[in-house]
Amino acid sequence: MNVGFIGLGAMGLPMARRIVTAGHRTSTTFHRNRAPADELASLGAAVLATPADVARASDLVITILPTDRELKEVVLGASGVLQGCSPGKVLIDMTTGTAVAMQEVADAIEAAGGEVLDAPVSGGTPAAAQGTLTIMVGGDRSLLERCRPVLEAMGTQIVHVGAVGQGKVVKMVNQVMAAAHLLVLGEAFALGVRCGADPHTLYEVVKSSSGYSRMMDLRLPGFLLEGRFEPGFRLDLMKKDVNLALESARVLNMPMLMTAAVGQLLSAASASGRGDADFSAAAHYVASMANVQLHEGPTRLG
Ligand code: NDP
Repeated sequence: MNVGFIGLGAMGLPMARRIVTAGHRTSTTFHRNRAPADELASLGAAVLATPADVARASDLVITILPTDRELKEVVLGASGVLQGCSPGKVLIDMTTGTAVAMQEVADAIEAAGGEVLDAPVSGGTPAAAQGTLTIMVGGDRSLLERCRPVLEAMGTQIVHVGAVGQGKVVKMVNQVMAAAHLLVLGEAFALGVRCGADPHTLYEVVKSSSGYSRMMDLRLPGFLLEGRFEPGFRLDLMKKDVNLALESARVLNMPMLMTAAVGQLLSAASASGRGDADFSAAAHYVASMANVQLHEGPTRLG
């Protein structure tokens, strides 16, 4: 297949590398920063001027952008994917965003004769590099089967979760839980350290106890235990994800008390200057509110 890939950030670049090296003829474009597109070009991809040009050159276009806003700009904006869309073309959007924006984009592409899958991902940058992402796919099942060979270059758990937009819903649930696990880890470990426990010992023991969360493996080594917070996954993106959930709850008139506290803590951590650091810096922030540090030595925020 001719594959177009738009959004070469922390996730998109390693995912696009895997598409190119799997042998798909790939084209891309760039926004402010040309270096990731040049890197992809060195592997054999074509770098084109606009998202519309990428769509014209492709059977299937993949987008993975920060938020709904950039997705709408890239697809519906001037020189966007829609301008290069014709019957039979497929858009797979892997952005973490809302079902509402996804539906708006899908309606526009389908009106032009194209087809759409909604396919957010989980697993972070290591899984993106290794091609072991979990991909939650909303949309037509037979379209998913046609696109599966391309998705298999990026993920091992490719799960059909319902109609277009349901991928965004499942991802939103995951993000609420991931953020809550991370922040409670920061708070509980701070208490343990204040009471004299060694954070490495806490990790070793809780890992095989009932308080375990995978977030411990993902964000203690390499991040919290070392005081290093290069992203990874930017804190402001996690704040965006939790706010998506809170906004959905508001519209649905549902209480989400714990998630509201998580959202406030992420806002405070962002306001403290950690927005572009890895989201694990929010747990560092929570511990620092109690004047506790979970690592020895200096802190590197990004
Ligand atoms: P980044 O901020 O690292 O990358 C975003 C990319 O989008 C950049 O390459 C940026 O280009 C590009 N971009 C922004 N606006 C435009 C535009 N108008 N036209 C073309 N390209 C544009 O984000 P991530 O890769 O971390 O995240 C992407 C999505 O994946 C988000 O929705 C995030 O929530 C989700 N996600 C992230 C994970 C992670 O661990 N990082 C894990 C799972 C999901 P430029 O820099 O040149 O502006």
